[in-house]
Parts: sequence; structure tokens; C-alpha cells
Amino acid sequence: MPSTACDIAELELHELEAALGALGQPAFRARQLYRWVYRRGLADFAGMTDLGVPLREDLAGRFRIGTPEVVRKDVSIDGTTKFLLRLADGKLIESVFIPDTPSMTFCISTQVGCAMACGFCLTGKMGLVRNLTAGEIAGQVRVLAAATDMLDHPFNIVLMGMGEPLHNYDNTMKALRMLHSEHGLAVSPRRVTISTVGIVPGLERLGREPLMPNLAVSLHATTDEQRTALVPPNRKYPLAAILEACRRFPLKKRNRITFEYVMLEGVNDSPDDARRLVRLLAGIKAKVNLIPLNPAPGIPYERPSDERVARFAQILADKHLTVSVRKSRGRDIRAACGQLIVEGGTKKSAAQQMALLMK
Ligand code: SAH
Repeated sequence: MPSTACDIAELELHELEAALGALGQPAFRARQLYRWVYRRGLADFAGMTDLGVPLREDLAGRFRIGTPEVVRKDVSIDGTTKFLLRLADGKLIESVFIPDTPSMTFCISTQVGCAMACGFCLTGKMGLVRNLTAGEIAGQVRVLAAATDMLDHPFNIVLMGMGEPLHNYDNTMKALRMLHSEHGLAVSPRRVTISTVGIVPGLERLGREPLMPNLAVSLHATTDEQRTALVPPNRKYPLAAILEACRRFPLKKRNRITFEYVMLEGVNDSPDDARRLVRLLAGIKAKVNLIPLNPAPGIPYERPSDERVARFAQILADKHLTVSVRKSRGRDIRAACGQLIVEGGTKKSAAQQMALLMK
């Protein structure tokens, strides 16, 4: 049973200072605790050896440090490691460690399931079960960094696991603030990428954030008809609205928006699609990341040949767009993009979720 004690993993540093201050503790105690939890990966008070034993016991009676539990670890032949994590209420999520890209990268989930229902994504088949809390989002990074010996090393975070980060906006941004704390893991927003289906009000809010992560937009199609068929939220936020929000997005010098484009054989992978994509992105500081589909049972699309992907990429490059082809990692353990899914749990159907979103 999850305990009802106040969960330190859900608190930003200033909130922890306030909670400890109410007990008569000075502010530096909060910083000490934060360092144990984030930099040392501790999830219980007993090991916090620079706190007196009576204080440790007192804290253990009042607080807990909610931490996702590793249920299973699958290691791919390419070194990618997929973690199955159990949350306090028993729900399961997946997070992935992708080494040497050349950086070390954690791919983190923001929701249990997802409401977006993209036609080529397995997570979309689950529907949305629930939002993750800020502590659960940041907790994945704590757990994975500890499990991969990365607590003292620089790493990147991509919010490209299960869920739509801008559909869980507040908790996602709070998690980034917690991870950014200099007394925690001090993750710079430049090392974080938010990937979104393109929820326009969320993009506008993101543009006003003091801590601005990198932005990746999942485009996947070049006409509204095609995009609505693949990415249902396009009905509410069509291409023109998304691209307009991208044009207005306040980018730092030298920064660009990444446009992700999953390639589906015979659907969106023709030279005409490539030329339309070039036209759509005109005037936007953009780079394009092509993601050849990772096929999965129940997904009614095929992965195009490497030649077809290369031809598409060449058309973009000829028009001076920066283009890369995502090398999908961990496909042998179903850790690649769009392959994260866990069974079980009650949920609204994807259609019900969509109806809520469209209101
Ligand atoms: N909700 C966010 C994060 C999703 S996962 C978003 O939509 O951006 C990150 C990327 O993987 C997205 O671009 C997503 O569309 C893509 N993706 C989903 N399923 C895929 C699959 N089967 N093969 C390849 N890429 C996929």
C-alpha cells in the first residue's frame, strides 16, 4: 500500500525547505536531503549519514521518498536497456536508457498510456490510464541514472517514452524544474528534449517557460487529411496552426525545432511528400528527423526500404534542410519508438479519451 506520508519525491527544493522549515529545520537540511535523493540515488532515510540518527528517524516517520521500482530490465544487443517500472499504485511504465548516441540518453515517460491514439504507435493502443506525477517523471531519471551508474555523468533526457508531455503539462514542467536543481542532478534544459504531437496551447505556454527545453514536433504528414488519419489530434490542431505556433516559438540563437517524421511505406514516403514537407517548413528554423517505422503486431503499416528513406532524405537535403534518419535502437527488446506498451490496468477507451481531448 502506498503510504500517506508526505512524499519528498514530489517536492521542488523550495517546497522541501518549507516542509522542513515547518519542523524547525534550517534550509540547508533540504539541500542535504535533495543531494541524497538525486545525486546519491537514495530512497530511504537510514543511509543519510550526515543527518543525526534521531532526525533520520523523525523524517522516516513523517516522509517517504516515492521511487519507481525496477520490475524488469531488458538489455538489447546494441546496449539499449529497457526498464519496466512499477509505480506506487501498481501501474507499470517503461523507460529506456540509450547509450552512446554519442551522448547517454534517457527516454522517459510522462503518462501511463497515451490519449493521442496515433495509428502507428503501440502506446496509443493503450489509451490513457493516468498522468504521471512530477515525482514519477523525475523518479524515472533518478532510478535509471542510479541503475546505469550515470549519477555523476552528463546525460540527455528525451520525453519520448509513453505519453504526450504537453497533455500532462504541469507535472512535466515541475519534473524538469526538480531535475534542474543544482542540489539535485543539475540537468540543463539544453540537455532535455520535449517531443509533442503539437498541442498548440501547450506550445504557446512552453514558449514562455523560463527553463526552455529543446522542442521536437511529431509532424508525420504533409496534408491535414493524411495527418488526421495518422495523428487524430490534428483535427483540433491542424498543420497550419502547429506550424504557425512553431514560427512564433522563441528559439535561442542557433537552436532549431526538430520535426519528427515517421515513415510509413506507401503512405507518407513519396517524393511528393518530401517536396511538400520542404514547402511547409519554409521560414522555420527546422531540422527533420526521419523515423522509419518500427513495425509491431497490430500496427497496420510497413517500414519503407532504406533506399526509399534515403531518397526522401536526399530531397530534403537538396533543399538545404538538415535531415537525419533515426537509427532505431533496442528493436530486439521492443524498446524502440512506438514500441512501449504495458498490459493491464483499467482505462477509458482511446476513443473516449479522444472525445475528452477534443472538447
Ligand atoms: N507523444 C510524443 C512522444 C511520442 S514518442 C510525440 O508524439 O511526439 C516519440 C516519437 O516516436 C514520436 O515522433 C512518435 O510519433 C514516434 N513513433 C511512435 N510510434 C512509432 C513507431 N511504431 N515507429 C517509429 N516511430 C514511432
